[in-house]
Amino acid sequence: MSVELDSVSRSFGATRAVAGVSLAVRTGELFAVLGPSGCGKSTLLRLIAGFERPDGGTVAVSGEAVAGPRRWIAPERRRVGMVFQEDALFPHLSVEGNVGFGVRGGGRSAARREERSAARRALELVGLHHKGDRYPHELSGGERQRVALARALATRPSVVLLDEPFSSLDAPLRASLRREVELILRDAEATALLVTHDQEEALSLADRVAVMRDGELTQVGPPEEVYARPADRWTAGFLGEVNVLAGLARGDRVETELGRFDLAPAEYAQPASAGGSVHMAVRPEQLELRADELGNAEVIDREFRGHDVLYRLRHEGGRTVLVQLPSLTLYEVGQRVLVRPARAALGTLVD
Ligand code: ATP
Repeated sequence: MSVELDSVSRSFGATRAVAGVSLAVRTGELFAVLGPSGCGKSTLLRLIAGFERPDGGTVAVSGEAVAGPRRWIAPERRRVGMVFQEDALFPHLSVEGNVGFGVRGGGRSAARREERSAARRALELVGLHHKGDRYPHELSGGERQRVALARALATRPSVVLLDEPFSSLDAPLRASLRREVELILRDAEATALLVTHDQEEALSLADRVAVMRDGELTQVGPPEEVYARPADRWTAGFLGEVNVLAGLARGDRVETELGRFDLAPAEYAQPASAGGSVHMAVRPEQLELRADELGNAEVIDREFRGHDVLYRLRHEGGRTVLVQLPSLTLYEVGQRVLVRPARAALGTLVD
């Protein structure tokens, strides 16, 4: 394991920023911690980097305990590289000077040569070796973040920590840089832990995602699993829109007021007692619509989102139902429709 947290806590006064978190990031893994603002993500990262001390629990990097009761290894000795939200490049140093800064070994000429070659290798990795002589103000925002990443990688850290590294960039740049950074990290065979509040970023980039709420982890798993089989209602809602429907479980199916859903595969589903009443989380894309004067719902709102449309319906039972369809399909507000499970629609049981 590259990073291991065992029951780590950190409070600020009455605020429990991190409340007994246990976590293991595997070597070579891209791991994301996803949660809303204030849930404790940055504090978690700072505890691993050594900018905060835990009140309880232990932190290990590459199998070595770096923080815990009677144990403290200073940040600069943890072999951890950090990339922040706002690039913190030195304006008076060239790109190469910035990247070499972290590997600086003193004034000796051998050390300086080593610094230069480490900086060049890292700049090559991020595709900026031809811009080593430039200064930060001569680069785009995306290039500056790549320099920051090169600086973190140049020291050949055991783990790279990234704190919302894309959030100061605009949406198209964010999406393309995200993919680039993923490839760079995989190329470098780096172990990386990213914190973000952006669901799409975490789900698209990470091998595994930990969802964090109020200092605790609600679920850890591969992106497909946390999205399709959220552990509870809050996690389901945080990862995207969701309908929570009451229903009756019968084996691997659940009957709801909108129709029958299959349960997600048994290895993930919680046991459903036959005939028991349950709650089921169903994503809006698991439902379909048909224009029908005698249908069971009415369109009350339509949100066009480019690649899809989110419809808000009032079901005859009184509840609001969300349905996501490709943007080619257009139903009007006020139109009567039949809403039902799409073919082979899956749902997952929630508390
Ligand atoms: P954001 O995405 O907004 O940065 P976050 O999930 O990274 O949020 P943290 O910055 O870890 O959250 O903060 C978690 C909680 O701890 C918040 O309530 C915050 O106000 C509090 N907190 C963090 N650092 C300190 C500090 N140095 N002193 C006092 N309170 C702090």
